[in-house]
Amino acid sequence: MTSKEKIIRELKDSCKNVLYKKEDIYVYAYDTSQNPETIIMPLAVVLPENREEVVRIVKICTKNKIKIVPRAQGTNHCGATRPVENCIVMHFSKMDKIIKIDKENLIAIVEPNVVIGKLNKELDKENLFFPPDPSNLAVSTVAGAIALSSGGPRTFKYGSTKDYVINLEVVLANGSIIETSKNLAKNVTGYNITSLFTGSEGTLGIITKATLKLIPKPQTRLLTLAYFDDLIDAAKCVNNIINSGFMPSVVDLLDNTTIKTIENYNPVGLLTDKEAMLLIELDGFNESVKHELKILKDILLKSASSKIIQTETEAENENIWKTRRSAFSALAQIKPNVVTEDIVVPRTKIVDFVKFCQSLSKKYEIVTAVMGHAADGNIHPNFALNLEDKKEKENFEKLKDELFNYAVTIGGTLSGEHGIGTHKKKYIESAIDKNTLDLMKNMKKLLDKDNIFNPDKAI
Ligand SMILES: Cc1cc2nc3c(=O)[nH]c(=O)nc-3n(C[C@H](O)[C@H](O)[C@H](O)COP(=O)(O)OP(=O)(O)OC[C@H]3O[C@@H](n4cnc5c(N)ncnc54)[C@H](O)[C@@H]3O)c2cc1C
Repeated sequence: MTSKEKIIRELKDSCKNVLYKKEDIYVYAYDTSQNPETIIMPLAVVLPENREEVVRIVKICTKNKIKIVPRAQGTNHCGATRPVENCIVMHFSKMDKIIKIDKENLIAIVEPNVVIGKLNKELDKENLFFPPDPSNLAVSTVAGAIALSSGGPRTFKYGSTKDYVINLEVVLANGSIIETSKNLAKNVTGYNITSLFTGSEGTLGIITKATLKLIPKPQTRLLTLAYFDDLIDAAKCVNNIINSGFMPSVVDLLDNTTIKTIENYNPVGLLTDKEAMLLIELDGFNESVKHELKILKDILLKSASSKIIQTETEAENENIWKTRRSAFSALAQIKPNVVTEDIVVPRTKIVDFVKFCQSLSKKYEIVTAVMGHAADGNIHPNFALNLEDKKEKENFEKLKDELFNYAVTIGGTLSGEHGIGTHKKKYIESAIDKNTLDLMKNMKKLLDKDNIFNPDKAI
């Protein structure tokens, strides 16, 4: 019996669902991130049904020095679920129960693979709300969002996933189980290790249960589409809105290429001749939203918005959101690969950064659609290209080097919500100083001395 066969037998003795035939596991060599040349097949894929199975698998892997790549739905953009040599993939699709929604204490206790859209549907019935929205609500999961501290359009007002994680049950590399906190709204007893695991990209331990903070659902949501003939006016307008004393739940900026691409793919009547658009959402009580809307329209007119369109119904809102969320699929109609970056810059540098993206697009002849959560300075340049075209791939590497270097030079950083994964690791030293990075590496060694959990990711 080969060593691979021995491991598979051990895994099968410990876990009900183990896949190892090539045709069953081939798909796990991929995730949403685009990198066609380095395909590594895992030894096997395990689909644990409960915490006890997770513990047994972790112990087997630690004993045999087999790596574990935790995987939820694989929708990350940074290669965070790409297999490495001598690894198994641990896929959580069978741990997807909402254990409890506790309205009195405003918490939900869930298994890792609960889909965020499904959670919010259940919360809706109780007039509750879990704000983090990684823009693909129908697919992405709680643990995936926790491991990357995912954000989304409403981060400016509500914060990102890290602001909604109260307590985690985690299986460590030696197979022991910890709780990072208690199921309480506040707790400063001991170090804040909940935050350490949040955003750790599956490199420190396996999340088997999460307690999430909930908030009351806003009564009303209104969308305003403000068009501009000049990108600079749109960016200035973001600051004018923020400085006026209220917090919109969304202030997204779309450049002309994005407007044209998404309108072409999923028409809702967006004005494709405009240079830029701000998608602004107000939420709260009916009366306060009406009041804020009056102030907002005044600001938009004073900020040179050339056309303002207001949605009237929830159905209209949904349609606009559907189109706005389709940017990735829309770009995929143009070229076979779409790469989405997620750089953060100081809000005052948004115009410089967007213009820099546009200049790189021309210089390297790569279709680039820029959009972003402008109120956070979190900009997503989306690139449509063919990574199998050698010249285009080379150009793209050069483009990325310039892009990340520029972002860091103007006081920005590599990622605001998508994480680092394998894709941005090469730039990490430019964004984190040596002492801090050394501390992070030591923390990883302390928790996972054999580097079992998701190697080659994050730091
Ligand atoms: C069309 C589209 C739009 C998107 N828009 C946004 C956006 O606006 N904002 C945003 O932030 N992201 C966005 N994303 C990226 C992605 O959806 C998010 O990163 C998402 O939170 C990942 O969820 P997932 O369930 O697919 O996790 P996966 O991609 O499977 O995994 C993500 C990370 O979680 C780890 N992990 C998974 N389960 C566990 C576990 N149980 N224990 C420990 N670690 C675990 C993995 O190892 C990996 O590091 C978008 C993606 C797509 C395809």
